[in-house]
Amino acid sequence: MHDQFGRRIHYLRISLTDVCNLRCVYCMPERMTFRPKQELMTDAELLTLAGVMVGLGVDKIRLTGGEPTVRPNLVEIVRSLSQLPGLRELAMTTNGVLLPQLAEALARAGLNRINISIDTLDPAKFKRITRWGSLDSVWAGVEAAEAAGLRPIKINAVVTRGFNDEEVADLARLSLERDWDIRFIELMPFAGEADFAQHAVVSSTETRKRIEGELGPLQEVPGYDGRDPARPYRLAGARGTLGFISSITEPFCAGCNRIRLTADGKLRLCLLRDGELDLLGLLRQDASAETIRQQITAAVWRKPWGHGLPDGLIPQSRLMSQIGG
Ligand code: SAM
Repeated sequence: MHDQFGRRIHYLRISLTDVCNLRCVYCMPERMTFRPKQELMTDAELLTLAGVMVGLGVDKIRLTGGEPTVRPNLVEIVRSLSQLPGLRELAMTTNGVLLPQLAEALARAGLNRINISIDTLDPAKFKRITRWGSLDSVWAGVEAAEAAGLRPIKINAVVTRGFNDEEVADLARLSLERDWDIRFIELMPFAGEADFAQHAVVSSTETRKRIEGELGPLQEVPGYDGRDPARPYRLAGARGTLGFISSITEPFCAGCNRIRLTADGKLRLCLLRDGELDLLGLLRQDASAETIRQQITAAVWRKPWGHGLPDGLIPQSRLMSQIGG
């Protein structure tokens, strides 16, 4: 599939649920209301829509949420997705809490890679950011993912002023000993959490300067093909890499190859724009496979060039946890 700007769209992120077992301060309020089950895609509906999109040229799927590991039948869903002909890569973004129970079964079912979100190595701050989480449980999840061979492991850290901006070098230091990719993400504003986000954004430039100030200069890793939003860098002698995802200060929309399927079956064309196509509605109205294919292709063609944050347009219809990141 291509959009009107010539970008090839082949990477689908599927949110399996809007429910999460943590309550990160920048992602959702502590008392969150979740969608009723009947509004969410069933396993069969999810597999049908994913199958249509793989048939249209999607070759990479990432499962996300909410928290994808709380979705019932996750291992079976992964097994079915991994068998879709034409799919090259099946990955997941998770907070890691349930990986000790799941990592091995997920790897055996066909999951290739995993991103784990850890914003700080300070247990008290971790609790403050996630409200409900414990760093030990996430760390056990990382170890389980490594043992299950879900590699290379990527660690995602959202940098938030006043919460973890002063400890980014501790996370970066992990790359010295471990062959992990550690990525620092700029905080993005969403609807109800937007005020918080706007005061707490830390630019990638600032994060990078702090890391270089404490740990020495970063070197670019050769061979970057521009597809990943984070160009890789390395500390001298490090086994792993560091990356910076600068959605706010240096948007990477020109290289965007993504579309998103929300847990309630909407095709979202840009993470930070509200426009969506109701695929689950079409499916439940018994639209033919051909109609669904045509609507997806037409929507992808109209995918917006870039997000509207520079013009003050903040996504209103959903929080990050209802899209999946
Ligand atoms: N629960 C899973 C996790 O923790 O990775 C998957 C869903 S979570 C929404 C996906 C990623 O989005 C996480 O790395 C999270 O830190 C990040 N995230 C959430 N809200 C964000 C925001 N406002 N700006 C930037 N990243 C955000």
